[in-house]
Amino acid sequence: MKERIFIGVAWPYANGPLHLGHIAGAYLPPDIFARYHRTKGDEVLMVSGSDQHGTPITLKAEQEGKKPDEVAAEYHQQFLDSWQKLGISFDLFTSTETANHAEVTHDIFLTLLNKGYIYRSTVSQPLCPRCQRFLPDRYVEGTCPHCQSKGARGDQCDECGQPLNPIELIEPSCRICGTTPQFRDSEHFFFRLSEFRDRLLDWVKQQTHWRPNVLNFTTRYLEGGLKDRAITRDIDWGITVPVEGFDNKRIYVWFEAVIGYLSATKEWAKSTGDKERWRSFWQGEVKSYYFIGKDNIPFHTIIWPAMLMGYGGLNLPYDVPANEFLTIEGRKLSTSRNWAVWLPDYLERYDPDPLRYLLSINMPDTADTDFSWREFLRRNNDELVATYGNLAHRVLTFTYRNFNGCVPTPAEFDSYSQTTIDKAKDTLNTMDELLYHCHFREAIRSAMSLAQETNRYLDKKSPWKTIKQDRQASATALYVAISVLSCLRTALYPFLPFSSQKLHELLGFKGSIEGDGWQLHMPAPGQKLLPPQPLFSKLDEGLIEEEANRLGR
Ligand SMILES: [Zn+2]
Ligand SMILES: [Zn+2]
Repeated sequence: MKERIFIGVAWPYANGPLHLGHIAGAYLPPDIFARYHRTKGDEVLMVSGSDQHGTPITLKAEQEGKKPDEVAAEYHQQFLDSWQKLGISFDLFTSTETANHAEVTHDIFLTLLNKGYIYRSTVSQPLCPRCQRFLPDRYVEGTCPHCQSKGARGDQCDECGQPLNPIELIEPSCRICGTTPQFRDSEHFFFRLSEFRDRLLDWVKQQTHWRPNVLNFTTRYLEGGLKDRAITRDIDWGITVPVEGFDNKRIYVWFEAVIGYLSATKEWAKSTGDKERWRSFWQGEVKSYYFIGKDNIPFHTIIWPAMLMGYGGLNLPYDVPANEFLTIEGRKLSTSRNWAVWLPDYLERYDPDPLRYLLSINMPDTADTDFSWREFLRRNNDELVATYGNLAHRVLTFTYRNFNGCVPTPAEFDSYSQTTIDKAKDTLNTMDELLYHCHFREAIRSAMSLAQETNRYLDKKSPWKTIKQDRQASATALYVAISVLSCLRTALYPFLPFSSQKLHELLGFKGSIEGDGWQLHMPAPGQKLLPPQPLFSKLDEGLIEEEANRLGR
């Protein structure tokens, strides 16, 4: 049965390059998921875009002496380039700086206002007496009232994940000049979040298929009670407030960025020439998945669902498979201390698939995992090159040379050969089940164990020896191995799209892997192979030291 799958991917702030923590946390998993579903023949829409508003952008622009839109446009372009090189297959990667996004945001704002879910209230806003301006939440720093950690921001504490208001911070200070802010009255709009608590709790309790970390975090959060939240503020960069008298204020980025999932779908629909087509991904029979890092959970399991409940008529998330964190060389990633591996740097020096491989087989989907360059080298050389790449290369070179560059014609399978083929089919079925439930790490592990077993099969059958006395036996063993390669091309395609496409062509298949479906396609005897080439290249030990020297500087 074909399904319809909406995939919303976290919107990266356009204030700096992406690093491996972002990729492992929020970008690689949805791409694997999208490719898997497309191969199954499901209808998939995967959207995201750069978050161009908010104070991360204005802070960066101030540091660099640029305008916010210049900074945002620059990183937006860099994101597009990274997606293409890493193979992240968005159907649309847009931005929050489009007229369409502003229009959709205004519609949601006004609908919630008319229904009474948004109201006006006067609040005390932090104002820096030295900088002579209202301070956005992120411009205020202090001690977290929940976990007492220092360096919490006025919008959120990164240590314990609690969203905050600047006034809740203990010993607040202006991030620009360090002065203690004063609080002044200003009229703003508020979202009546508190009113949704019971409905949200009832809804969340039914989501037993969510990952335990997501479910537990959300439940605890709701049980702690919800506060109404300000959705406008005193800045000049962002989406305007569609109400008279609010010209100097803008809609908060936390409120409008999540609307991006809907506005991107509408933009995509317009681009297909059928502007009503967005409905098929937001209404009726469709499952919506939101892929995010764990620091983003409350916005996707509480705030966005509450906005959708208030608006009405649109689907709530089906699943929010949030990942845990990636550490780098055993230490917590820190962009300010440059303890990070930047994606554009990586892509300049190495191929995309070895990174996709390591981040998949070591994915932080249930617990934090570590990235190290030694592990990167080992996984590439011992697993991609020696296990999988070598299997493909020795089978294809030998066959190409001895069977006129064609898939050989097998004799009847003995039980070992039949078991090997059955094992390939089982692997696809097992992976189907795992991928369907977003267990990416286990899924790729089962594909790699098939490659290992097939190497053992070949060692036992030794077609390179039997060819002299029993050409039929050699042909059969090679045919079985080629069939497993055909299986691996499909099984590994969601994870390793570049090398899978190469293998697809080397095996003599035409068209796309996705078009072949999630099944074992036994190659036809006589099918023409392409001249073999290695799928992966061995990396030099020296990179470990070279890369270590870049970290933390
Ligand atoms: Zn100041
Ligand atoms: Zn905290």
